[in-house]
Amino acid sequence: MKYNRCGKSGLLLPQIALGLWHNFGSVDVFENGENIVKTAFDKGITHFDLANNYGPVPGSAETNFGKILKNNFQGNLRDEIVISTKAGYGMWAGPYGDWGSRKYLLSSLDQSLKRMNLDYVDIFYSHRFDPETPLEETMMALDYAVRSGKALYAGISNYNAEQTQEATEILKRLGTPCLIHQEKYSMFVRKCEAGLLDVLEEKGVGCIAFSPLAQGLLTDKYLKGIPEDSRAHNPNGHLQLEEISEEKVHKIIALNDLAKARNQSLAQMALAWVLKDNRITSVLIGASSVGQLNNNIESLQNLYFSSDELVAIEAILG
Ligand code: NDP
Repeated sequence: MKYNRCGKSGLLLPQIALGLWHNFGSVDVFENGENIVKTAFDKGITHFDLANNYGPVPGSAETNFGKILKNNFQGNLRDEIVISTKAGYGMWAGPYGDWGSRKYLLSSLDQSLKRMNLDYVDIFYSHRFDPETPLEETMMALDYAVRSGKALYAGISNYNAEQTQEATEILKRLGTPCLIHQEKYSMFVRKCEAGLLDVLEEKGVGCIAFSPLAQGLLTDKYLKGIPEDSRAHNPNGHLQLEEISEEKVHKIIALNDLAKARNQSLAQMALAWVLKDNRITSVLIGASSVGQLNNNIESLQNLYFSSDELVAIEAILG
């Protein structure tokens, strides 16, 4: 594993981090998730990403991760890993279980710590910008989370370029710099190229790219239809069948051929493609099996793209 500096901070993060959005809930097979986390750590993946609502049921990914820690990461091993969690999407009933108020963020962080049986998380994120709450209030909640020792660093996710600019300035004034921004980025979703990445670079904030495989589309999984054991077929999965259009499958097939010519799987090429931008600290992947995880880690063997390859990829993506 190689570790990149997160923005201008002191924290190094692995080029590949593991997210527990899918495959770690109470509906999933616990031992499978446990094996994925153990293998990840053994391969140098030191960063595990959660959120209050990951499951299903919401909260169960944190509960299961707490059990995995208890079973496998006793003692000083806690100091060898970086755990993040978030609050920002609907979590509990009533007016205090959603969005970006101080009330919600700090109650949610306490709940997350209880579920994982931790004293602190390494990174606490505001999961999304709240247009109804003053940004100062949301940022003050992150600042407080850090000052109270319940989080070591503050992060934001899904904030656009302008919101990010403002949020990082407020955090800087408060004395808790913004460590990291978590944003969707893959060959299929490139919104952050139009401004956000520039803001992050200018502000010295790291960027961790989520769904770099477009939830599995950028793999060899959907080349010949939609397999039974795929996220698109899973009733608890967030990949919608409508997203797998004929046009997209044509692109996937062409990208797969290009990956083969590089002696990579499509998943490996897709991860390498995101990591080629040195403003990206890490790719934040999901995996439903140890085999997928191992395949994805192999991407680090070849992160180089020739200019011809980049041109060919752009032509396919259109
Ligand atoms: P990916 O784009 O990496 O998709 C992961 C899925 O793709 C796997 O679960 C698996 O699905 C399939 N897959 C992975 N590797 C392979 C492979 N080698 N071959 C074939 N199929 C493969 O990321 P996710 O969408 O899972 O997101 C990753 C993390 O990002 C989340 O866990 C979460 O931590 C974070 N995230 C953050 C968000 C935010 O708002 N901040 C929003 C969404 C995610 P299958 O079941 O089909 O096998």
